[in-house]
Amino acid sequence: MEKTFFMIKPDAVRRGLVGEVLSRIEKRGFTIERLELCQAKEAVLREHYAALTAEPFFSDLMAYMTSGPLLIGVLAGNDVIASWRLMMGATKPQEALPGTIRGDFAQAPSAGQSIENIVHGSDSDGSAAREISLWFS
Ligand code: UDP
Ligand code: MG
Repeated sequence: MEKTFFMIKPDAVRRGLVGEVLSRIEKRGFTIERLELCQAKEAVLREHYAALTAEPFFSDLMAYMTSGPLLIGVLAGNDVIASWRLMMGATKPQEALPGTIRGDFAQAPSAGQSIENIVHGSDSDGSAAREISLWFS
């Protein structure tokens, strides 16, 4: 069974959207194999987002992701990596379609802010394996 790593980000926890997101996962029929509330450590986040360290928004992204507790977890199911990315919607909330999590619950950031977009999901087999072992080692 395919597995993916997912997060319910601090903005979603703050806004009381954890149940809504988990409910969509359950209704879709994916298995929640692991789920943990935690405060992300900066060292783990830096490794998680290693490909983005040179981006101008990187320090805002670190501040966002450490702004409060978040949920980390593993989903299992057929084609779950791509399916969960479709359920999440586009990275930029203003481009995310209605019906997707980001399209239903997020909006474009104000100037100079990082994009707060509710959820994370691995984007490939390789990143799913890497992220699961990084967060659940
Ligand atoms: N991000 C941002 N500004 C950008 C691009 C990304 O603040 O211009 C943040 C946003 O929270 C995003 C995360 O960095 O979810 C990781 O970016 P990625 O391109 O991997 O998007 P994702 O895989 O989350 O859709
Ligand atoms: Mg990504």
